[in-house]
Amino acid sequence: MAKRDFYEILGVQRNASQDEIKKAYRKLALQFHPDRNPNNKQAEEKFKEAAEAYEALSDPDKRRRYDQFGHDGMRGTDFRPFTNVDDIFSTFGDIFGQSGFGGSVFDEMFGGRGGGHQRQRQKPVGQPGSDLKVRLKLTLEEIATGVEKKLKIKKSIVCGTCHGSGAKSSSSRITCPVCSGTGELRQVSRSVFGQFVNISTCNNCGGEGKIIKDPCLTCRGDGRVQGEATVKVTIPAGVSEGNYISLRGEGNAGMRGGQPGDVIVMIEVEPHEVFTRNNDDVVLDLLVSFPEAALGADVEVPTLTGRAKLKIEPGTQSGRVLRMRDKGIPHLNSYGRGDQLVRVNVWVPTKLNSEERAALKQLSHFENINPKEGDKSAHSDKSFFERVKKAFT
Ligand SMILES: [Zn+2]
Ligand SMILES: [Zn+2]
Repeated sequence: MAKRDFYEILGVQRNASQDEIKKAYRKLALQFHPDRNPNNKQAEEKFKEAAEAYEALSDPDKRRRYDQFGHDGMRGTDFRPFTNVDDIFSTFGDIFGQSGFGGSVFDEMFGGRGGGHQRQRQKPVGQPGSDLKVRLKLTLEEIATGVEKKLKIKKSIVCGTCHGSGAKSSSSRITCPVCSGTGELRQVSRSVFGQFVNISTCNNCGGEGKIIKDPCLTCRGDGRVQGEATVKVTIPAGVSEGNYISLRGEGNAGMRGGQPGDVIVMIEVEPHEVFTRNNDDVVLDLLVSFPEAALGADVEVPTLTGRAKLKIEPGTQSGRVLRMRDKGIPHLNSYGRGDQLVRVNVWVPTKLNSEERAALKQLSHFENINPKEGDKSAHSDKSFFERVKKAFT
């Protein structure tokens, strides 16, 4: 079964803050906690799945790798899926309170012992900005070495007049009369689990606790305006068409000071004049003369990182594929790199003067020049040919 997206599992946006991720995970962990779902395999699976997603996304380094490379990016880190529930408690006990699960969160959620446990809920500011998708074309040479690019993008930026607040002056932001500035509405109800405090976000102020009486004239209260920015993106060697790189916080500015979105750089690969990519190998078609193929020769061929010498053995058949080890594209998620595969094509001349024609005529009388029954062409060299066939068709 294909692994689900970690953000999807936690039900958060790709630009979610660490707090939002933690909150989303706690909610799921409480919902699927084994104590509350005895002998429920499905709940246990969900519980593990959420813990796995939280492990990846709560660590900035792992999250960055996941954003860039998806589940593949977890290879080579200390990340591993949880196999049993006790593991989860020993790893994340701290976010459930000192004593693991029995502790403060449960008390708080169920209105427990009251007092002392009241935590200050963080008020959201504004509304998050949206992500921006940008296409970036790269050459095979750039992919072979990795490259840093600067991208000029049009996006919404924080309004310079009100510095993102959306208000004309500091006095035009007033306390929300509906929630008295708390940003939330509390409702106490009873359930089989005990007293339950239902907290919902205030609709009037969107949870900000403040509303704007006189909006800023530049941005009309939005806190952002259309603008332009240059962002830098580092492309690792070995990327492929369809890979993407997220630049956290470089997207559209949020409304009224909200978190900015991300820039998502979609990788596209420009077709190359001489090379064809075949996974991490590159394939080159090389023309040699009949004497070079028959007598052998040292030739120079292009590679992605400059010219290199290649030995043509005497008696090399047309269609033969020669391998130049480690001259291909670096593997993205492991050490090493692909090869360059050179397909040798014997050039048949199309224009001949009388002297050349006479020389070839003379040559054709020699015994070893002509193929005999049972001779094999390079095309019967299946293993190499199969490997590159795809790249040529
Ligand atoms: Zn403004
Ligand atoms: Zn309010």
